[in-house]
Amino acid sequence: MSAGPAIAVTSRLTGMACLRCETHWPVAEYEAGCPRCAAEGHAANLRLVYSASADAQGPGPVALPYPQALSLGEGATPLVDLPELAAMVGIGRLSLKLEWCNPTGSHKDRMSAQLVARAADRGATRIVAASSGNGGLSVAAYAARAGIPAEIATGDGLPEPYRCAIAGHGATLVAFADSMARWRHLARRVTEEGAFAATNYRLPAIGTNPFGIEGYKTIAAEMAAVAMPDLVIAPCSRGDLLSGLHLGFGELGRGMPRLIAAEPFPRLARVLAGADYRESFSGETAQFSIAGSTVTWQAVQALRASHGLAVPVADETARLAYAKLAGFGFHAELSAASALAALGTLAAEGRLDGRHAVLVLTGLGFRDLTAGEPAAKEFHRDRRPEWASAQPAQTGASPRPTIQQRDNG
Ligand SMILES: [Zn+2]
Repeated sequence: MSAGPAIAVTSRLTGMACLRCETHWPVAEYEAGCPRCAAEGHAANLRLVYSASADAQGPGPVALPYPQALSLGEGATPLVDLPELAAMVGIGRLSLKLEWCNPTGSHKDRMSAQLVARAADRGATRIVAASSGNGGLSVAAYAARAGIPAEIATGDGLPEPYRCAIAGHGATLVAFADSMARWRHLARRVTEEGAFAATNYRLPAIGTNPFGIEGYKTIAAEMAAVAMPDLVIAPCSRGDLLSGLHLGFGELGRGMPRLIAAEPFPRLARVLAGADYRESFSGETAQFSIAGSTVTWQAVQALRASHGLAVPVADETARLAYAKLAGFGFHAELSAASALAALGTLAAEGRLDGRHAVLVLTGLGFRDLTAGEPAAKEFHRDRRPEWASAQPAQTGASPRPTIQQRDNG
């Protein structure tokens, strides 16, 4: 283990607050989320609270816990307008936020830079993460940057490109048949060995350590620096990204876009319709980056507070959206393409209000070998939005292997 860079938390950080009950807490690691909500049987994540003094303003438009963090060059990703696709959907402006331009190919790097800095600041001797691919690869890279050993718990079906890259960064890989086994493994590492958890591992799910979620606020700041969108559509599993977007736009204070969660089968959609967020929502999907049976309070809160929606996207609809993006030159992973599919569904259902939508394309498709080949054969660049047919998410016969449900951490 090499000595990593010196890490210091910003002097602006004054405390933490619960996303659900707003109780304030001192800065610490809260493995069970808000202690008060946990005691009431509700898992809820916390957010960071900063001093408001102007002279304490950091270098960027939003506060970060570790503004001089372990950078690998993350952030400042391109925002590309696609007028032709906007016209096909029937919206005034459509922009793509290319989060795969981050160092390890996904948005997770923004979180890992802050999270691994937190681990280093806490003197962690081991970082553990449960991941379907993107998160694990990102944590492995930033842990290597920090000189901290990492262990990534994955599923048996981890695509080979991820396996090679994670191992290349020197992280240990351990595979489990199901996501709950991975979470139990992390729990043992945390409670018995004092490892630093870089992903959720608890049930009911809470989400990732709030120090990491802060990193996603920069996506909101980068969007707002170009133009405040009306809609932001993001692929969603445990809602770390959605929550970070909500916190970021809230901190900027220039209005709150409607946040739309694209999900592979109804989870958040059921919660917004009245189900308890602590239930288990089973389903299978090939969109492995956003799979899993759990919903978090942070995701529910981000949607409710932004008057947002959850849009289930079946695998076949995601494949058609994948092909549509590929036809314009963008090779998204299937989970990322679900954002376009969700936009198409809203358009087809006549629920597309707003003039400017941004799709957060979270991950690159090269590593997702089951993504969209069948759909690509069906692609025609015409104006018939066949990919926008409002098919409710369902798991029918699939021409490609369907990956069993697994939480991506
Ligand atoms: Zn609380």
